[in-house]
Amino acid sequence: MSENYDVIIAGCGAAGLYAAINLPSTARILILCKRDLPLCNSSLAQGGIAGVYDSPTDSIQYHQNDTLIAGNFKNNVDAVHTLVSEAAQDIEHIIKLGVEFDRNPDGSYHRTLEGGHSHHRIFHHADATGKEITTTLRDHVLSIPNVKVMENTIMCGVKQTKTGYSAFLKTADDVYSTVNCHFMILATGGIGRVYQYTTNSAIATGDGITFAYEMGAKIKNLSYVQFHPTAFNNRQTRECFLISEAVRGEGAHLLNCNKERFMQNYDERLELAPRDVVSHSIILESKRTNSTDFYLDISYKDSEFIKNRFPMIYENLLKQGYDMTKEPVPIYPCQHYLMGGIDVNGNSETTLPNLFACGECSHTGVHGGNRLASNSLLEALVFSRHAANTIAQRLESAPADFEEALFDARLGSKHIPKGIRTETRKILQECYFVIPDKEAAAKGYQRVKEILDDLRTGGYVVDADYVLAKSIVTVAYIILGEVIK
Ligand SMILES: Cc1cc2nc3c(=O)[nH]c(=O)nc-3n(C[C@H](O)[C@H](O)[C@H](O)COP(=O)(O)OP(=O)(O)OC[C@H]3O[C@@H](n4cnc5c(N)ncnc54)[C@H](O)[C@@H]3O)c2cc1C
Repeated sequence: MSENYDVIIAGCGAAGLYAAINLPSTARILILCKRDLPLCNSSLAQGGIAGVYDSPTDSIQYHQNDTLIAGNFKNNVDAVHTLVSEAAQDIEHIIKLGVEFDRNPDGSYHRTLEGGHSHHRIFHHADATGKEITTTLRDHVLSIPNVKVMENTIMCGVKQTKTGYSAFLKTADDVYSTVNCHFMILATGGIGRVYQYTTNSAIATGDGITFAYEMGAKIKNLSYVQFHPTAFNNRQTRECFLISEAVRGEGAHLLNCNKERFMQNYDERLELAPRDVVSHSIILESKRTNSTDFYLDISYKDSEFIKNRFPMIYENLLKQGYDMTKEPVPIYPCQHYLMGGIDVNGNSETTLPNLFACGECSHTGVHGGNRLASNSLLEALVFSRHAANTIAQRLESAPADFEEALFDARLGSKHIPKGIRTETRKILQECYFVIPDKEAAAKGYQRVKEILDDLRTGGYVVDADYVLAKSIVTVAYIILGEVIK
């Protein structure tokens, strides 16, 4: 027997949770999370959340200008205006829900600086802001009676019906089911796991983008990928530990293989240039010095200040054998964020009726060609609230019944071949890392297309392996298609 809901939200990161919180208590809501609840990119956020709130020197105009400059003016100006002018409202709301941000001795909020920001406007909880926000939002969602949370339940497919959408689910105990809804919100996060090296958590495989693409929704600017300049470089793990931009905000220097500062040769904003500029400069400096050895050095600052300001980063690096209070730490760029995604309007509506997208899987246009630091948690909050408000207005006029789509997913007889994800990640890493290689991308695109055709027609069992592989390959296919255009 299938279950029916007014709203199904796929994703329990900042975007999905905040959408649930902002939906009316009369709505029957299902929220899905394919792995354990804390595992998401939102939990990993270190630096903080940007916003002009209770600040005498800053203004939303400054925040807007910084966002546009960082985005290389490829942003949607209306969406940026919404983002910066509504920031205070959502920051205040999450504070009321219980989120604690660091304060100065006089009780005012401490705000830090990150690359591309002209003012100190990043609210933070030491260097673990995402954990603080998601834990608070999650506790709140778990206490809402009209919200059912399904953890370790992967959405394997979505179909549009006459009355909304049907989703095909699989639990960790291998139980398959179909659920139907009038409104669906995709809040499935980013695509980092399409790359060999990323700061993203294991859930970031672009599932929501793939479902939306398969249903015919418009996907925009998927090749607008952000590479963070300062991931810890242990040259081993796929998930690279991020060393927050706030470390540079507090004065850290970037050093080349000769332990010399070099940003002065590339940009007058030095270490505080926007991320794309810094990553690009590292790659150019790497070519000049013929070395991939780079370092981040804040050891000249007071060691107690460093330990108090960056306790999580300090402890983590110590475990890896580096004391950031005493020595430079090895870093290198890696995939970090997706600016493109499922195209949405100001209400977070996709091009399909009553299908919404918010958070990192969506393309609101706020980030343009390069996201300004700490604007993505903000985007997740502001635009998921817009999705919730729009749905709230339509709930009463929703159809009385629920149509159920048929899924033939259980008909597959064999498992996908091994190595598909590894091969696709290698292709993308080689074809498009910071500076795209168009020639390699043309070849990569053909190979990825072959893999995708096989996944679509090969009669494979639809399990988590299949869903993740198909998502990774679909996302790579769309990105490379844009790169070679
Ligand atoms: C290391 C790191 C540091 C960062 N630091 C900052 C920062 O300081 N400030 C800032 O603004 N941004 C930061 N970001 C970016 C920011 O955290 C993310 O862009 C944002 O939190 C994304 O939120 P989200 O809700 O869209 O996705 P996520 O938080 O990633 O949540 C996605 C959810 O979707 C679920 N899901 C996915 N696919 C399926 C499926 N098929 N079925 C069911 N569920 C599914 C997942 O289980 C998960 O619950 C950082 C990102 C990283 C990786």
